[in-house]
Amino acid sequence: MAYDQNNVFAKILCGEIPCNKVYEDDHALAFHDINPQAPVHVLVIPKGEYISMADFTANAPADLVVGFMRAVGKVARDLGLDGPGYRTISNAGPNSHQEVPHLHIHILGGKPLGPMLDQTF
Ligand code: 5GP
Repeated sequence: MAYDQNNVFAKILCGEIPCNKVYEDDHALAFHDINPQAPVHVLVIPKGEYISMADFTANAPADLVVGFMRAVGKVARDLGLDGPGYRTISNAGPNSHQEVPHLHIHILGGKPLGPMLDQTF
């Protein structure tokens, strides 16, 4: 599957669509989710055209992989989530309900989050 350069996060990255920015460096951009599912719900995206974690880890240069993962950890730390705890999620493909085909990690926290998934499978 080819990367869709018109996806909403590509437009946020190039400044065409605004975001409520939390953090930015050479490798990553973090911003608040427009439809939060927890008191803290931040998305971290890499600066590059990658659809999913599988695509990113197979094809991104090592400095970008490291820089992106460090950014995820830093954002969670800076949001004060290390002590109380938090959850990271990265959806990929139809079974996960991935909506935006640009790799993103959801950082969720700010309250006890309950079980990871419902148990109805
Ligand atoms: P996915 O289902 O792909 O893992 O998650 C996509 C997330 O992006 C959703 O939580 C959705 O609320 C968020 N989102 C979609 N469009 C926008 C937008 O234009 N701005 C922001 N900040 N978040 C968005």
